[in-house]
Amino acid sequence: MTTKTKRQFQSPKGTFDILPEDQKYWEKVRKVIARVALGYGFERIDTPIIEDADIYSLAAGETADVVEKQMYVFKSKGGDMLALRPEGTAGVMRAFIEHGMASLPQPVKLYYLAPMFRYEQPQAGRYRQHHQAGFEIIGDQDAVYDAQLIHMYVVIGEELGLKNLSIEINSIGCAKCRPTYRAQLLRYYRSRTAKLCKDCKRRIKKNPLRLLDCKEEKCAQMRVNAPNLIDHLCHECHDHFKNVLEYLDETGVPYVLNPHLVRGFDYYTKTVFEVFLEDEHIEGGNEKTHQRAKLALGGGGRYDYLAKTLGGRETPAVGAGLGLERLIGVMKKQGIKAPPLYKPDVFLVQLGALSKKKSLRLFEELRKAGIVVAESFGKDSIKAQLRSADRLGVKMSLILGQKEAIDGVILVREMETGAQESVAIEKVAKLIKERLKK
Ligand code: AMP
Repeated sequence: MTTKTKRQFQSPKGTFDILPEDQKYWEKVRKVIARVALGYGFERIDTPIIEDADIYSLAAGETADVVEKQMYVFKSKGGDMLALRPEGTAGVMRAFIEHGMASLPQPVKLYYLAPMFRYEQPQAGRYRQHHQAGFEIIGDQDAVYDAQLIHMYVVIGEELGLKNLSIEINSIGCAKCRPTYRAQLLRYYRSRTAKLCKDCKRRIKKNPLRLLDCKEEKCAQMRVNAPNLIDHLCHECHDHFKNVLEYLDETGVPYVLNPHLVRGFDYYTKTVFEVFLEDEHIEGGNEKTHQRAKLALGGGGRYDYLAKTLGGRETPAVGAGLGLERLIGVMKKQGIKAPPLYKPDVFLVQLGALSKKKSLRLFEELRKAGIVVAESFGKDSIKAQLRSADRLGVKMSLILGQKEAIDGVILVREMETGAQESVAIEKVAKLIKERLKK
């Protein structure tokens, strides 16, 4: 006889299960996001988890870390090169173009809640599968929408009860003003190339703007004196940015100007922003310094060229993503409560073969009447069943014994006082509904 070695399976590295005890936080976050999104006129969109890999290299850029290092790419059996979605914007824009949404009243506001996949070195707050809520406002270039999107982040934070959120904002200009700035940046870095990290040495050739985004300590120090894009914006970008800030001031959104904020994707133009949580003890940020740690919860910006890059008409747009694992981590850390999802109203106790049979029908009747009924039909002892009822914290138990089953009645027991009364079985649903209302 051959002995098989027993394998112990685990979720793949960097992924995790969302267990029942955690679902209440996810539900709370989903609810708040959906409510805020709808309140601001966003409709939900769901795009496939897999897309043509090219849309990401075209959209985010070949040299974006997410594309170059972190994307899960595979060849399908039919020979197509597909990617597991590493970010949400490109797929939404693909759908916008594919479904001719340019002919709808503009802007089109879309939101999603979706898993993202990035081949990263897992650590706290950084996973290979994570979830984002994303918001895209497509079809309008007005700065008011950049501000509205940022304001929405603040509102979501407020509605969840989060403390210590901070917003950093910058403008990275457009195709008109960026080349001059690029030249200046190159001039600054050229004499310092030797001191750059390996990645930045490559970035300087391919995409120098990304030098500003490097997380390596030595590169971060070097960018302190680098020229600022904000000083080189063209008139249009300058005015646009000024308007964004004025609208933010108007809505009372607190923000910090960060002239080195560039974000990791090529598709951004003009406004870019990130939302952080300030906390000295948060893990999972990429900060190795002793300053107050900052955890990025989300970020986004304007992407006026993306539609054209993906084969559509030029369509201005602005969007942002919010990391849900990090958001939930922060909620827990700040002691924010989420209501339990399963909270039964009554417990149905059954004793004996006949009552067990009758209980099935009664259970269904009560459920249809909108009463959440708990049971442990597999248990026969009254003690064990009442113990379960106690543990669940129900207000009432319904006890259907052999005698009650024959007589067509049921005992209603108030758990707090232990008081019991006998009620005709066909009247019990109405009675419980009335008692639960009190
Ligand atoms: P990004 O567009 O890369 O800035 O991502 C938007 C947000 O998603 C970040 O601010 C994080 O909150 C979250 N996020 C990004 N990558 C990961 C990851 N690997 N694991 C968990 N959350 C992530």
